[in-house]
Amino acid sequence: MTARADGDDTGGTASGDGPAAAGAAAADAAVREAGRLLFARPWRFVLGVPSLGLLPPADDPEIAFAGRSNVGKSSLINALTNRRDLARTSNTPGRTQELNWFRPEDSDVRLTLVDMPGYGYAEAPKERVDAWTRLVFGYLRGRVTLKRVYLLIDGRHGVKANDGEVMDLLDKAAVSYQIVLTKADKPKKGGLEAVVAATEAAVAKRPAAYPGVIATSSETGLGIDVLRAAIARTASE
Ligand code: GDP
Repeated sequence: MTARADGDDTGGTASGDGPAAAGAAAADAAVREAGRLLFARPWRFVLGVPSLGLLPPADDPEIAFAGRSNVGKSSLINALTNRRDLARTSNTPGRTQELNWFRPEDSDVRLTLVDMPGYGYAEAPKERVDAWTRLVFGYLRGRVTLKRVYLLIDGRHGVKANDGEVMDLLDKAAVSYQIVLTKADKPKKGGLEAVVAATEAAVAKRPAAYPGVIATSSETGLGIDVLRAAIARTASE
């Protein structure tokens, strides 16, 4: 693997010459291969959880995806898993109100992806927002097996106020999270770099934020391999 996708900042850098750089490049290639293999197997939907009382026992490591409604979360999960319809995509924001569990089929890999219901849908009634808050905040605060949250931010707009509220919660609960920009194909030339820089600055001082912003596009595939590698690395930590 020679090319690095834009926004690749998942840990190691492989610039420079000499044995150290060659070692870093080999490690980078290995983790990308681990990411590719992890998502080359079929993934399946296991469980939808509408309330905290119905959470499954905390056993296998979990990695969760959170973000505003319409941020492109379902599209991203489908792109990661090479599936058209594993997570439902829709133009109806705020529809899904369950935590959805996905696992690799026939696998010795003990990892669960958790798709969290989107937030920030302006027209959502108060009871719905309250139910969302109870479910999501309850899960995020108390889940011992949760290894990392990938917090999706729209690559056209950057961090919004309610994204900041979710980061506040994660910082307080000491839940590790990394920012993933979605729809990176959308900004005009130079616009994506500006959003990446502004987003990095917005999380730089946040205690639970994992360094580096991963820019992705479910449309073009940009950064999907980088995110797969980041997840494989997190799963093996
Ligand atoms: P969710 O509500 O966060 O699950 O968002 P969806 O995955 O349903 O996507 C919301 C809308 O954004 C849909 O119209 C998608 O086609 C569109 N979308 C999602 N990802 C991308 C992307 O990477 N690029 C572009 N251009 N559009 C996207």
